[in-house]
Amino acid sequence: MKRIGAHVSASGGVQNAPLNAKEIGAKAFALFTKNQRQWFAKPYEQNTIDLFNKNMEECGYTSEQVLPHDSYLINLGNPDKEKREKSLSSFIDELTRCHQLGLLYLNTHPGGHLGKTSEEECLKTIAACCNHALEKTTGVSIILEITAGQGSWVGYSFEHLAAIIDMVEDKSRIGVCFDTCHAFAAGYDLRTKELCTKVFKDFEKTVGFNYLKGVHLNGAKSAFGSHVDRHHSLNEGNLGVEVFSFIMNDPRFDEIPMVLETIDDSKWKKEITFLYSLIDKK
Ligand SMILES: [Zn+2]
Ligand SMILES: [Zn+2]
Repeated sequence: MKRIGAHVSASGGVQNAPLNAKEIGAKAFALFTKNQRQWFAKPYEQNTIDLFNKNMEECGYTSEQVLPHDSYLINLGNPDKEKREKSLSSFIDELTRCHQLGLLYLNTHPGGHLGKTSEEECLKTIAACCNHALEKTTGVSIILEITAGQGSWVGYSFEHLAAIIDMVEDKSRIGVCFDTCHAFAAGYDLRTKELCTKVFKDFEKTVGFNYLKGVHLNGAKSAFGSHVDRHHSLNEGNLGVEVFSFIMNDPRFDEIPMVLETIDDSKWKKEITFLYSLIDKK
């Protein structure tokens, strides 16, 4: 079964996210567990946690269907020790929040070296932060999202993701998220079925589908290989819809949360219906 949804709003409190997901007919969702423009936030009150659980249950969601996204401020690859430690504390706080909500994953953009170290060094730094964060927390897995490679950001190749996984000690708590827009911008051409077959064969060989814990379904305003991170609606932009048809008909994408981060949230309900309509009726 395919679990399609969107990155829904948690404004007014995380307890609203399952309600917002239900409203658009989502079978999975992403959310920010706090204001994503802030480093830290007040701890949850028990009432918030209880309401979140109640709404999850009433809307029929389990934790496997939820892929929280961390704050965009966090950079676990920052070469500046003080700044990196701030990122790491914030990241640990987010992992803890996910755990408090009974969630299983935290999606993150691996990190950037800001032009001050090599990519290899940056990957090592990120892996060390992941090891530290996993040691300090329980239950929640770190999900490394493929990036577009904008600026000095690493994580834009399957090799980068595999290198971090390789250095993470607890392999049971590390995974990856495939973002269609980021991958396309990073130089993975997904515009035909044949090209998708090739890219995901490479993914299987380099990373492995056993590590795939989530997908971000996005169109791309970015040009192919541009390393620019700009999402678009599904049927607009430079990517085309072949990749979505490929994903919807490939059992390797069953059961994992696959969420829209497309730019027009008024289209989400239609986009979800559209994605399900791509499944070949045999
Ligand atoms: Zn992301
Ligand atoms: Zn994404």
